Amino acid sequence: PRLANQIAAGEVVERPASVVKELLENSLDAGAKRIQVDVEQGGVKRLLVRDDGHGIRQDELALALSRHATSKIYDLDELEGVASLGFRGEALASVSSVSRLTLSSRHIDAADGWQARTDGRDMVPVVSPAAHPVGTSVEVCDLFFNTPARRKFLKTEKTEFGHLEETFKRVALSQWERFLSLKHNGKTIHSLTACHSQAEQEKRIAQLCSADFIQQSVFLDVTHLGMTLRGWMGLPTFNRRQADLQYFFVNGRPVRDRVVSHAVKQAYRDVLFHGRHPAFVLYFELDPQGVDVNVHPTKHEVRFRDSRTVHDFLFRSLHRALAEVTP
Ligand code: ADP
Ligand code: MG
Repeated sequence: PRLANQIAAGEVVERPASVVKELLENSLDAGAKRIQVDVEQGGVKRLLVRDDGHGIRQDELALALSRHATSKIYDLDELEGVASLGFRGEALASVSSVSRLTLSSRHIDAADGWQARTDGRDMVPVVSPAAHPVGTSVEVCDLFFNTPARRKFLKTEKTEFGHLEETFKRVALSQWERFLSLKHNGKTIHSLTACHSQAEQEKRIAQLCSADFIQQSVFLDVTHLGMTLRGWMGLPTFNRRQADLQYFFVNGRPVRDRVVSHAVKQAYRDVLFHGRHPAFVLYFELDPQGVDVNVHPTKHEVRFRDSRTVHDFLFRSLHRALAEVTP
């Protein structure tokens, strides 16, 4: 099982950012309202994600670290889409096979907390009592300590933290109602309270991305044929030298997609200027039947059933919003 886990780990665990992505998803799945991410040395030395979700029962702790341990029911379509990529129910197992991992938790119905530890070599976790409030903490130390080849691919602390922060931002930009914080080497990088209004969302975006962006952007909220596009587009005065402020969510998931980029680029080009690197934070909602999200679970790709309709809707909505505020 160890070999299998390490092979799977190559798929899921590329770098600290991919670990954080998996842990954040688990915390969200557990219904957490507060999630703290605390990392050292870009997440390579130590990475902790703590949540106040429903927690894990004592007798399920060790199981959660074994392969195919998922406690989550997926519908058949989703399962089919991801099964071929060997993805569900093995994130924790994969991470634990390439790090020293401690999973601590107290289930919402339990009186006490427990923890399970592994250190990469021993696949049978040691379970012991541990003080923990309701919720779960996953601490991952010395990522890739036992896989030197993988470790060699890690970049500088700054670069690794950059990727990790980007993962955090994508979650923060789509999970408005959660308290989220990110610390690096003991320093608070982001501390975000729950957002219940557009103004609060704008405050969060200003904190996470750029205050100038919110000031120099246009807000739109358009619904047509069961599709909704809502969000912020940077105006030409807000000029970026890099394509680093481009967030597009499809039904809540961050996505990179050619149909989308084309529609955005064309709208900018048509209305204003060459706009090499338009900045935007946009949320597109459509009938889940109209989009296939499992093209590749780690690459944020989607496939729209009717990409022409989607393209036209996006292009028109963006075009109109930009044209309204541009002389
Ligand atoms: P998956 O999320 O696909 O089920 P994982 O390996 O990520 O697989 O997690 C395995 C199991 O461990 C989950 O199904 C869940 O039961 C439990 N688990 C992991 N993280 C948490 C968490 N933060 N809160 C509650 N349960 C968790
Ligand atoms: Mg998971």
